[in-house]
Amino acid sequence: MNILIVEPSKIFQLSLEGIFKDYATSFFACTSGSRALEIYESSPIDLICLSFYLSDIDGLELVSQIRKLKFGETIPILMITSKESQEAIAASLHGGVTEIFRKNRLSEIENYLKIYAEHARQQAHLSGNILVIDRDSLQVQEIITYFQDTKLKFIHFTNAEAAAEMARTAEFDLVITSVVLDGRMSGLALIREIRDINETMYRVPILAISAIAHVSQKIELLRAGASDYIQKPVLLEELRVRVKNLLHNKKLFDTVEYQRQQMAELAIRDQLTGLYNRHYLLDIVDRTIQEAYRYNYPISLLVIDIDHFKKVNDTYGHSTGDLVLKGLADLLMETFRGTDTPIRLGGEEFVVLLPHCSSQDAINRAQSLRLQIGELCPGGIRISASVGISVIPSDTNITYEQLFAAADEAVYAAKASGRNCVAFREPVDHTRSLELP
Ligand code: GH3
Ligand code: MG
Ligand code: MG
Repeated sequence: MNILIVEPSKIFQLSLEGIFKDYATSFFACTSGSRALEIYESSPIDLICLSFYLSDIDGLELVSQIRKLKFGETIPILMITSKESQEAIAASLHGGVTEIFRKNRLSEIENYLKIYAEHARQQAHLSGNILVIDRDSLQVQEIITYFQDTKLKFIHFTNAEAAAEMARTAEFDLVITSVVLDGRMSGLALIREIRDINETMYRVPILAISAIAHVSQKIELLRAGASDYIQKPVLLEELRVRVKNLLHNKKLFDTVEYQRQQMAELAIRDQLTGLYNRHYLLDIVDRTIQEAYRYNYPISLLVIDIDHFKKVNDTYGHSTGDLVLKGLADLLMETFRGTDTPIRLGGEEFVVLLPHCSSQDAINRAQSLRLQIGELCPGGIRISASVGISVIPSDTNITYEQLFAAADEAVYAAKASGRNCVAFREPVDHTRSLELP
């Protein structure tokens, strides 16, 4: 960053250079306004720091002259003053000063510079896909050229219809749209449409650009879902900062959303085995059963309980016990087809929900599973399991509680018959029996 310091006192110039040195690539220092203007016109300056009192003109007068020069509109101008009055500070800010710093609190400049440098760093690393909708192709070309030093990718349309179509199929990090467009849809309608596409596009930042300065229109743009607004003719420096901020916010949103999904996933997964847990089962089971009832297909439930598992823990230790549980979980994941849902209910008890599976199919599946478990040797330990089965036949209105109670009763029966076997129980439909005379 090239910094111009305009300060009548040489000693103070040096202390300012001391503050700026970590951020500056080169310094230009002078004491007068006229020399400052000469330097500004002959060298590329990125930031100006000036004093309220200069050796020739008033500091504010210099600010007003710089603001009229090339790039003068957007350059940061910091003013150092010992004035404390609110009026003097307000007059300076109205006069075009970017930020005021008190002479006795110069360390605050450091904070400003840190933020400035961080912005510059982030701007150099800007990346993402931007959908631009503007009928002024020359302006869009100018924008694309301006962002050449970044990793931003622009896709440009002159009409909203094509852009909306594109927004439906591709993912964007930012949408920049003008209000007046080719085609029948306006920018306003496009913003509404984009917000309606899906949750991802509901979150994507939209920057509206308009040449129309009606306050009512600005309000309408924001109401329609624009995240930010910029006036035409577009000041590229302003656009850059807004784009950076919007992309930054989008990244934060994405991170929060990713973490939310991770948390949601954690809440429904058993940490040891990676299988779904009881919460997940209770979340989906009623819907799954309703679906089976509606489309008239049977749904079965297996309850799998490892035999004498306590002995495994007692003999080989808890961590070997864990390996056994993980091994059985892996087997369940591998063995069952995509629409079947294996779940660790807790402890050494697992269930598998099997849509489209009749009682006979479920008994066969349970028998072969029992044999597979016998051959598995998870953690080097030979184990067996007892399996309880129940089924909701098609066209029967049985609840999950009734289904589970029957399968659980079947496990007890299997245990009672000596373990390492399967047992089947019909669920009891209490509502039906109540209807009987
Ligand atoms: P049964 O044949 O009648 O089912 O006997 P069992 O020993 O398998 O059943 P019981 O309910 O008496 O014991 C289950 C054991 O499972 C007791 C408990 O310490 C153990 N257990 C529960 N959760 C875990 C776990 O996450 N890891 C390990 N290693 N053991 C667990
Ligand atoms: Mg057991
Ligand atoms: Mg048990």
